[in-house]
Amino acid sequence: MPKSETSSKSLTGKEIEYLKTVYRLVSGRDVVGSLEVADAMGVSCATASEYLERLRRKGMLKRYRWKGVCLSEKGFEEVNRVIRNHRVFETYAYRFLSVSLKDACECASRVELYLSEKVVDSMCSLLGHPKTCPHNNSIPGGKLCCRT
Ligand SMILES: [Zn+2]
Ligand SMILES: [Zn+2]
Repeated sequence: MPKSETSSKSLTGKEIEYLKTVYRLVSGRDVVGSLEVADAMGVSCATASEYLERLRRKGMLKRYRWKGVCLSEKGFEEVNRVIRNHRVFETYAYRFLSVSLKDACECASRVELYLSEKVVDSMCSLLGHPKTCPHNNSIPGGKLCCRT
């Protein structure tokens, strides 16, 4: 069976941050300009463009001349995977370990890139495949999630 844990190894934490920012900014629209990404990340336009170009070369973004960027299907999957890792982990830690939601969330931010699909799916089923995290944000479903 092909494993889906190959993906993030080729992306750095910083690149994932850019990808997540594009994801957030582009929702409900077609494209987002690099200036907007630069603003959101608090960097210069040149720096943002460089990262966006890197992500494009890795097949995570599509770039339209003069208009900006949007996520490719691969980029979208990648962001969803990281968001799922974060939210499943923090829900698990918050529910089963005696840590505050703030600590659970902080810890989730540190490990979200590195959790394997197998581990996350198994935490997810122990939790009964929750649809939302304790912040009430929706958790993207995994392949094995049975939700009715
Ligand atoms: Zn969180
Ligand atoms: Zn599940």
